[in-house]
Amino acid sequence: MTVALGVGPMESGLHGSAAEQPQAGATGKVLVVAGTHGNERNAPWLLEAWARWPGRLHSAGLALCPLIGNPEALAQSRRYGDRDLNRSFQTALLADPARQEGEVLRARSLLAAHGAEGADPCLVAIDLHSTTAAMGNSLVVYGRRPADLALAAGLQRQLGLPIYLHEGDPHQTGYLAEAWPCGLVIEVGPVPQGVLTAAVVHQSALALEATLVLLAEARRGSLPQPSHLVVHRHLRSLDLPRHDDGSPAALIHPHRQHRDWQPIQAGDPLFQASDGDTIAYHPPAGLENQLVWPVFINEAAYGEKGIALSLTSRERWPVEQRWSEALQTLASRLRAA
Ligand SMILES: [Zn+2]
Repeated sequence: MTVALGVGPMESGLHGSAAEQPQAGATGKVLVVAGTHGNERNAPWLLEAWARWPGRLHSAGLALCPLIGNPEALAQSRRYGDRDLNRSFQTALLADPARQEGEVLRARSLLAAHGAEGADPCLVAIDLHSTTAAMGNSLVVYGRRPADLALAAGLQRQLGLPIYLHEGDPHQTGYLAEAWPCGLVIEVGPVPQGVLTAAVVHQSALALEATLVLLAEARRGSLPQPSHLVVHRHLRSLDLPRHDDGSPAALIHPHRQHRDWQPIQAGDPLFQASDGDTIAYHPPAGLENQLVWPVFINEAAYGEKGIALSLTSRERWPVEQRWSEALQTLASRLRAA
């Protein structure tokens, strides 16, 4: 595909002409990334469709920088080449000159070109992913940056999207969206790796365009916010039971498969052993008395990470004024298309 292989943004009409004049103080674009994982093909398809038919994209008047995160992996329909690009934005890793894996080079290149201090600076990163888990149309937020929470709250208010808040996990760090001043992941599923489906493309488009409308509203200083935000806060991940040689000793139980965002209690079926026996959920230490909501159940790419599902705590947080203030301050520096 013609748009997939460049380092730079697609220049085929997704954003305005060179004649546009940035407003005073405006210093950056919105980075829209598809194909950070090369076997997630729906969002790259969407960006290519918009490049061919730019009138279909509602950019909300913002200057965009759409690009393919990992074009080499996309060309091979692989998640990555040397290492997961979406775990490669770790400060120490990027600063280590001895690290020369393809994805480390790509992360450095993306930041040099489109980081907040890059040659073509972007202030917000929207990273479009798909998953084999039944996450629906959802958001992933990393940590508690106020601007991220304001954006997620606005999207939840408008579209009702569930939010997975990933934090406190030393085994999973270095996400792309964290490397920009504001950023989040739009995660849509279930869809098999490498497969294109109209529903996933449409859901990705819906969430992205709503995100851009909200950023435009924040830029005007009128970001709508709900009174509360519901997040599913990461607690810990669980692996499948395994044999001594590391091979899986059980499956996700059919009663739990595709039941992301639904609570699980002690004694509920969780796994199914090879003899057909049900293995019930037993809360891990520290979570004995806590109702938990599993997410990313049976995500294909997480097998190598030893993750069969992640347990979250469903929490209702009051939306804070400082969140929208942070996003509006940042968004005031976004360029118009
Ligand atoms: Zn992904």
